[in-house]
Amino acid sequence: MRLVLLGPPGVGKGTQAKLLAEHYDLIQVSTGDILREAVERKTSLGKKAKKYLDSGELVPDEIVLDLVRQTLEDKECGEHGCILDGFPRTIPQAEGLEKIFEDLELPLDHVIVLDIDDEVVVRRLSNRRTCRNCGAIYNLNYNPPSGEGVCDKCGGELYQRDDDKPETIRHRLQVYKKQTEPLIAFYKERHPTSIIDGSGSIDEIQQDIRNVLDE
Ligand code: AMP
Repeated sequence: MRLVLLGPPGVGKGTQAKLLAEHYDLIQVSTGDILREAVERKTSLGKKAKKYLDSGELVPDEIVLDLVRQTLEDKECGEHGCILDGFPRTIPQAEGLEKIFEDLELPLDHVIVLDIDDEVVVRRLSNRRTCRNCGAIYNLNYNPPSGEGVCDKCGGELYQRDDDKPETIRHRLQVYKKQTEPLIAFYKERHPTSIIDGSGSIDEIQQDIRNVLDE
């Protein structure tokens, strides 16, 4: 199964993608995670991407498309199936992805769109903490770690992403509306596409997605 998970920042794409990857044995491809790791490790990709991540702007399409093409080829998506989380985010990226799947002779099976109000996003993201080591995601209100600032899974340090500060969150929401939301219409015309309410609990949202996919 090959899936795309779309939705505004903070709707829970990363959390849901992780759970879906475990449940359906899919490879999770998160462009945000790959780019953040590259920035942290100061690779040449990271150096190019840093200013965009810091300001909440999108990294240029060519850079991200190269990255995804390499990842999908390297990781044998055909065998395992995959879930793309945080990609595509623009029409040229979506067109590029169509081409990549065409070249790999693989279908894109389903597009899941998670939907949520802006104010809920701002509240959620301001309270989000991410593990520097394993990438696990916590929310200080809904899903807090047992010990302050420490990851339950690996003991790594929890931090607040720079782009999870309120001003940057609002900017990222504007970027989403302008550049990414048009993808919903793009996909509705081409692939099975389901819109799912992203305001419930982690378990509720996960169940709603599985219900759609299991059909
Ligand atoms: P995310 O973790 O998905 O919220 O992504 C964090 C940041 O990484 C975004 O604000 C962008 O700067 C960059 N990014 C992630 N995925 C993409 C993408 N598909 N296209 C362009 N920029 C991206």
